[in-house]
Amino acid sequence: MRFVTFQREGYDEPGVLSDDRVIGIRGAGFDDMVSLIAGGEDAMDRVRTWAQRAPAGEELDLLRTKLRAPIPRPPKIICIGLNYRDHAAESHLAIPDVPTVFAKFPTAALGHRQPIVIPKNSAKPDYEAELAVVIGRGGRHIPEARWRDHVFGYTCFNDVSARDFQMATSQWMIGKTFDTFAPFGPAIVTADEIADPHALDISLVLSGDVMQRSNTRELIFGIPRLIAHLSSVFTLEPGDIIATGTPAGVGFARKPPRWLKPGDEATVRISGIGELVNPVITEE
Ligand code: ZN
Repeated sequence: MRFVTFQREGYDEPGVLSDDRVIGIRGAGFDDMVSLIAGGEDAMDRVRTWAQRAPAGEELDLLRTKLRAPIPRPPKIICIGLNYRDHAAESHLAIPDVPTVFAKFPTAALGHRQPIVIPKNSAKPDYEAELAVVIGRGGRHIPEARWRDHVFGYTCFNDVSARDFQMATSQWMIGKTFDTFAPFGPAIVTADEIADPHALDISLVLSGDVMQRSNTRELIFGIPRLIAHLSSVFTLEPGDIIATGTPAGVGFARKPPRWLKPGDEATVRISGIGELVNPVITEE
């Protein structure tokens, strides 16, 4: 199944995406995506039944709905740095022995077709196409072999980065967590639809030019290792997002650099998962 969050009469509501229709699921008892994800298999059964015979008025035209991030305020947005060999090399940094971890605040979340806002105090805004994992069942000290029990689904993610802020200090977070710097979506694809998340083509197209093109088989640390590593430190919770890192081709490593500019359109495309499109504007 595919899940979105959309706006209806000014309020966020979770929904099931079915071709070009969105079926609201508030009537099935779910006010937001996190409560659905936390509800486990029982919740999924309830939603499936509801979606099969949704009352009139619950089925909306996708093109007429305004999407938000599939989880508008994720409990955590966890990011992995330098997780593709070619990207570590273009950044002139060593291939890591342990995952590099940073975070974005929930206020950075952004949905499909919502604009990335270039902050007025950054001259080096950049893009990064990434596969994101959405945690289902939470846990601490999750063994690698049990990783699938804890994945709800997958989505496209753009790790938008202000390189001047990111590189000014040893800690990257400040350059990663401007408002609108965590676009993801359009939908969360449930894990049962993706046989192997480590065999997906991933690309980023910027205003018509292919800037990044790779496959998730090139990940240095795969999803089992990431889940085990992160949960050895803190509790993973339903709705947490793990952005798994970006391949080569980001703007700052190009000669000359290619920064995001107003009027751009950034598209993250992942096979079997979808296409996340965001226009780029400047801060007023
Ligand atoms: Zn990244």
